[in-house]
Amino acid sequence: MKKHNFNAGPSVLADEVIEKAAQAVLDFNGSGLSILSISHRTKDFDAVMAEADALFRELLHIPDNYKIIYLGGGASTYFYQIPANFLGKKAGYVNTGVWSKKAIKEAKRYGEVEVLATSEDRNFTYIPKGFAIPEDLDYLHITSNNTIYGTEYHEDLSSPVPLIADMSSDILSRPVDVTKYAMIYGGAQKNLAPAGVAFAIIREDMLDRIVRDLPTMVSYRTHVENNSMFNTPPVFPIYVLMETLRWLKSIGGVEEIYRRNLAKAKLLYDEIDRNPLFRGTVEKEDRSLMNICFVMTEGNEELAPEFMEFAKSRDIVGIKGHRLVGGFRASCYNALSIESVQVLVDCMREFAEKHAK
Ligand SMILES: *Cc1c(COP(=O)(O)O)cnc(C)c1O
Repeated sequence: MKKHNFNAGPSVLADEVIEKAAQAVLDFNGSGLSILSISHRTKDFDAVMAEADALFRELLHIPDNYKIIYLGGGASTYFYQIPANFLGKKAGYVNTGVWSKKAIKEAKRYGEVEVLATSEDRNFTYIPKGFAIPEDLDYLHITSNNTIYGTEYHEDLSSPVPLIADMSSDILSRPVDVTKYAMIYGGAQKNLAPAGVAFAIIREDMLDRIVRDLPTMVSYRTHVENNSMFNTPPVFPIYVLMETLRWLKSIGGVEEIYRRNLAKAKLLYDEIDRNPLFRGTVEKEDRSLMNICFVMTEGNEELAPEFMEFAKSRDIVGIKGHRLVGGFRASCYNALSIESVQVLVDCMREFAEKHAK
């Protein structure tokens, strides 16, 4: 692709994945049919589902007692489905920003919500740590990477109650100890696929903890037992997700992409810390590898629109910060190359030289 795509989501996908997707739109597997117009109940699509499942398990080291499902409706659908399924009396939530808040709001419809910790006091610029986790909770919910603010958990929490994580924006970007989680879920449009599919990795015993009689489509039992085929799944996004998993495996898997993500983030954060015109917005130890947020330093705020234009002239796309944070956000998802990050860093350097006092 010709531009440096820092969009927060939907976002960059590997060039070869997009080429494979384009080919499958024209002719899927030499079938003479487009992936857009095949039945989801065909042998060819069964093979896509099976390969996606196998690759996801292999790449993230997912044990056999976890099931992977794919649903439409986005991560936002999980915000209400999770409490509908699992919140009988009381659940714990950590509030690390917009997405956590939305999850909390939906959970309150189903039972008591205890917010165990929040970073709202400093506009969500850090990850709260060291909070107590009561043992009488039905589950604890966290947002592992806060796409809007650029904070990320860098360690898997140990929880005495089932731990559920929204990993929409850092899934498969770093190694995760899946056994610490009862459920991991997210929209696929940040790191895995185009918009239209949301994944969940659910520990089997959670299905025995469903606390109420639910509409068929809301119950996770339906989707696990029917292998995401109770109704028509998002065929095309799942196909692209499978191609992304193939690509990830081909370059060396999660361990290799983590190494690359660390290198990209270091390159950009080092420049943010060095460059007199820019500063980071979050606590250093909680900085996200995926969404890198920065603003102009004090006294230089009025240069922001000019920098935006300057970056645009270098084919840099998608670095405008979320309106709740302002400034800039460079989303450096798996498929973004270090060359693109270097272009942004060079652009920041040049801009600072141009404005050196
Ligand atoms: C983007 C995002 C969501 C929302 O996902 P949808 O698929 O649009 O519902 C939820 N959580 C996080 C952390 C996100 O980054």
